[in-house]
Amino acid sequence: MFQTTFAISAEIKGVGLHSGLESKMTFYPAEPNSGIVFVRSDLPDKPKIPALYSNVVDTRNCTCLGDKNKNIVSTIEHLMSVLYIMGVDNAIIEVSNPELPIMDGSAEEIYNILKEVPLREQRVKKKFLKVLKEVSYTDDKGNKISLAPSSHGLRINFEIEFPSPIVGHQEFHGRIEENIYALEIAPCRTFCEKSQVDYLKSIGLIKGGNLGNALVLDGDTVLNSGGMKHPNECVNHKVLDAIGDMYTSGYSIIGELTASKTGHFHNNEVLKVLFSDESNYELV
Ligand SMILES: [Zn+2]
Repeated sequence: MFQTTFAISAEIKGVGLHSGLESKMTFYPAEPNSGIVFVRSDLPDKPKIPALYSNVVDTRNCTCLGDKNKNIVSTIEHLMSVLYIMGVDNAIIEVSNPELPIMDGSAEEIYNILKEVPLREQRVKKKFLKVLKEVSYTDDKGNKISLAPSSHGLRINFEIEFPSPIVGHQEFHGRIEENIYALEIAPCRTFCEKSQVDYLKSIGLIKGGNLGNALVLDGDTVLNSGGMKHPNECVNHKVLDAIGDMYTSGYSIIGELTASKTGHFHNNEVLKVLFSDESNYELV
């Protein structure tokens, strides 16, 4: 299998969740072995920030990359999941804003646009990261994430437990393949409680947030008029985030991710554990 990049450039526009400002992403082809690299085109020296776990600087509400000069690119995870599933190894992505457009809170629109962009094979072998030994991270509440060897591709097991009866306990178990991604994962939106939305708005965040870009829960009610898009929309969105975050390893992972009540922070921590010892993995 060969490495892949975009054959032509492409553009996606939307609104940034926190700033409420228009944010534009422009995708360009990139050299083999260069990976996924964001460029802040709105800043004078156009700083480049590679989409790597080691550049993650904030994981509180999304996955946010940064460089040593404190330039950031946030909310990369949904786009990263799309690039992973399309098998795009190398791309330069210019962004006009510190945050990527939130779109409808899922990856569906980005996926639908990018899958129409022709790709180009690069005649340099694609490398996969094969997990050889189980690695894990457990937080102080006992919530655990692990990466273990898998015979084929990326497999994810995820469970969440929320007090709201409309979410409750949800699980996902499956191999991450493009048909499952397109139907069951990409359309699943980010979700939050109305009380959280009210608080974040009160402190000047999520200026662009509305029912058009998140699934908003209020007790046992979904405030969005169409309700949930999928009975397991919440856990499937966590799987979407995990796919995107795992791609900040810089490789397509051959491994089995098992996660219980975890998020962006844990995704980043388990990658740090994985890369802390070279005997945990091999590049194949
Ligand atoms: Zn998300």
